[in-house]
Amino acid sequence: MSKLDNFKRYTITSALPYANGPLHIGHLAGAYLPADIFVRYLRLKKKNVVYICGSDEHGAAITIKAKKENTTPQAIIDKYHNQIKESFAEFGISFDIYHRTSSAIHHDLSQEFFLNLYEKGEFIEKFSEQYYDEDYEQFLADRYITGTCPNCGYDHAYGDQCENCGTSLNPTDLINPVSTLSGKAPILKLTKHWYLPLDKYQPWLEKWLDEKDGEWKVNVFGQCKSWLKSGLQPRSMTRDLDWGIDVPLEEAKGKKLYVWMDAPIGYISATKQWAADTGNDWNLYWKKQENEADDACLIHFIGKDNIVFHCIIFPSILNAHGDYILPQNVPANEFLNLEGEKLSTSRNHAVWLHEYLEEFPGKQDELRYVLTSILPETSDSEFTWKDYQARVNNELVAILGNFVNRVMILMHKFYDGRVEGNNEITLTDKTIAGQLYDFYNDLEKNIEEYRFRQALQNVMDIARLGNKYLTEKEPWKTIKTNPDDAREALHNCLVLIGRMAACLQPFLPGTAEKIFDMLNIPPVGFSDDVKFENGHQLNISSLLFEKVEDSVIDAQIQKLLDKKQAAQATKVIPLVPAKENINFDAFAAMDIRTGTILAAEKVSKTKKLLKLTIDTGLDERTVVSGIAEYYEPEAIIGKQVSILVNLEPREIKGILSQGMILMAEDTNGKLSFVSPVDALHNGSVVR
Ligand SMILES: [Zn+2]
Repeated sequence: MSKLDNFKRYTITSALPYANGPLHIGHLAGAYLPADIFVRYLRLKKKNVVYICGSDEHGAAITIKAKKENTTPQAIIDKYHNQIKESFAEFGISFDIYHRTSSAIHHDLSQEFFLNLYEKGEFIEKFSEQYYDEDYEQFLADRYITGTCPNCGYDHAYGDQCENCGTSLNPTDLINPVSTLSGKAPILKLTKHWYLPLDKYQPWLEKWLDEKDGEWKVNVFGQCKSWLKSGLQPRSMTRDLDWGIDVPLEEAKGKKLYVWMDAPIGYISATKQWAADTGNDWNLYWKKQENEADDACLIHFIGKDNIVFHCIIFPSILNAHGDYILPQNVPANEFLNLEGEKLSTSRNHAVWLHEYLEEFPGKQDELRYVLTSILPETSDSEFTWKDYQARVNNELVAILGNFVNRVMILMHKFYDGRVEGNNEITLTDKTIAGQLYDFYNDLEKNIEEYRFRQALQNVMDIARLGNKYLTEKEPWKTIKTNPDDAREALHNCLVLIGRMAACLQPFLPGTAEKIFDMLNIPPVGFSDDVKFENGHQLNISSLLFEKVEDSVIDAQIQKLLDKKQAAQATKVIPLVPAKENINFDAFAAMDIRTGTILAAEKVSKTKKLLKLTIDTGLDERTVVSGIAEYYEPEAIIGKQVSILVNLEPREIKGILSQGMILMAEDTNGKLSFVSPVDALHNGSVVR
């Protein structure tokens, strides 16, 4: 085994999900499923491992969600903490503890960390100007300020980002900023904050990270190097907020710890709580031991958006404190997309775990299987419902389920489910035994190097091997010609099924349990032998997986489309800002008439221009119009339009244009004629 084998203890963490909304498949595929597979594997190898997670319950997003749902922050975190915890449990994510950062033990430990660094003089203290709401007597977090986006003119941009054009902003960039609390313009006021001097830690970080070269995933290591290359800046560890952990200083009254200071400490406080609950010593899992060889192995499973916090900021905090171990690895995943688009909570473009559980009861392993098969391990990957159906039907049903089912049916048909031989029944086929040995090597290497997709295929290869063996041996034929051969072949298959179930445990725990139950043997360790006593009775078998019908998949695809339409219907579309008022005379001066397009042709050597002949009722005249990208000339002949007839004629590309066709233009630049809804005679006045 690899380097991983050298540790006495393992501390495995999954990113703390934010308790302001439910979980979707992207979460599961990012930081939880890979960690759970890894942890279950370590446990099967009889390693001493603690698997830690919990809800992140601080930060402005919680208070804003509370405001939106017209309730309190506490009600928000209680609601989502419980919902998230339940979803994880349903999908078999096997945390030793699922804790929460609102707990007292976490507040205490976070403050202890802050004071430790404060007393060592690690922080830089700096004043800066920040928006302040005078009515509410509080500084405003970025999300509490809205205003006009300087980039696109959208008038509900937030202090940190414009959700319309996606530009990242500072609160002071906003035009006409408004406090969302009082609805009034905020003032700028000086405020003091405590900064972690990441620039000072940079040389140490560089040296530490260089040791990870070749061991860490390329995407993670590369991101870290690129931050270091652009130079680290001090980062504020405190915020002017009303929800979070108090900064434990008299002069910092009303200020809270930055949520990314306290969240990773949540791993440690959760371990403390777990240790208190179970009679363990948490220090063994987090603190440096007298002898370095006794240190625990710390591994953070996260999504790529959290790399900077786990590879730069948190290690800097741990190192500045001095008593703590540093992560051995941070195998961050990239993002999972859904049906060709990014997963999005705000657009409701997601497969929510709580909805899946309702619509696919008992099919957690199917989703675990599909997601593990497409984990975004080295690049973004994509979930589609068609692919879900194909993987369940062509792999789980046709390969894995089929192998187990065929063997169980034959055993019950020929021998009433009794395993009988001269003595213990174990694997007698040398070829299969040799191939199994190779599988194990591959499988272990893949899991230990965080290639879970590949590892799952290794397990499926055992099923493929079994199907092939069964087809070659044809026990349903040899039962008549050579009954000993038939019996031996089926017994070999039973052992193979048992060993496959052992390897399946980290990936599809529910399925592995079902198989052990059919075999009527207790679960065995990862690469342990499987043996049957003479006279062993198998249990009744049932199908492990069911085919997914087209109608089920079509319904899911339609559901996503419906959500998309609903989201679009409520989307605020940014408009060109309103113009100054004009008086009626200015409007009445324009002579707008209805007219009919008699002829249309492209103006040569231009892309946009059409030469139109218009019957205005008053006359027939020529108008050049920039609509060639939207209308084919032949398609618009006979169309009734609105035309401004008293616009000064002007020459365009050598053609005298007499008037202008009125067009409506949306924000995407799409054009449409402004035409009378009912046919009128040409020359009718538009007013
Ligand atoms: Zn914008």
